[in-house]
Amino acid sequence: MRIGILGDIHANLEALTAVVAAMRNDGVDTWVQVGDIVGYGPEPSACIDLVRELGCLTCLGNHDAAALGLLDIAYFNNFARQAMVWTRAHLRASDFEFLRNLPLVIQRDEFTVVHGSLHLPEQYGYVISSVEAREALDQQQTRLCFVGHSHAPAVYMRRTPNATELVVCPQSEIEISYRDHERVLVNVGSVGQPRDEDPRAAYGLVDTEQQIVHVRRVPYDIAAVQAKIRSVGLPDVLANRLSLGV
Ligand code: ZN
Repeated sequence: MRIGILGDIHANLEALTAVVAAMRNDGVDTWVQVGDIVGYGPEPSACIDLVRELGCLTCLGNHDAAALGLLDIAYFNNFARQAMVWTRAHLRASDFEFLRNLPLVIQRDEFTVVHGSLHLPEQYGYVISSVEAREALDQQQTRLCFVGHSHAPAVYMRRTPNATELVVCPQSEIEISYRDHERVLVNVGSVGQPRDEDPRAAYGLVDTEQQIVHVRRVPYDIAAVQAKIRSVGLPDVLANRLSLGV
């Protein structure tokens, strides 16, 4: 099985289209999406359409939850909040219905999907350090778990489910074997708004036969999405940050 994992698309259709083309090239047969299809970017409905078309196994992100009014946006920063007000005003009824039916956690035989940490998933905690990775791994029932939320890729691995030793690989591009590890937590980074100072769109690819996790990066037309962000009246800072990857 070749599992392709998308996440934190954030209504950036240019980035999503580029990543999907690369994943089709990789021969992905199972499509997963770790949440935050909407928020920040100018094309939420088109991104929802493409995610649905691909048949992605999809969980709910905090921005998706905020769009539904399930999360208080008083805690969002100013720009995220402005973008969320815009997003709510532009989503179609069918988009709200799709988002409303997304689960917080998806568990299959081989893998689990959640937006933030598996430790109290409804609180959308970040997995950005080994402390948080340990908390999440303690809850993980499957060998593989795919997350997003921090917009920065990393892989955390344990040889046994309760091992204290942790292999940590935080890099913008990753290729690592998990053959000797029973618990593997993959933060796949962000398609539509990377924050690891690499502006290229990120996605995850797991080959379960070869037992290799990849995080790959794809260049896309950043200027085109920046022009759209400005033309619909979303905050300028949301356009500018895309060229910097922050
Ligand atoms: Zn996000």
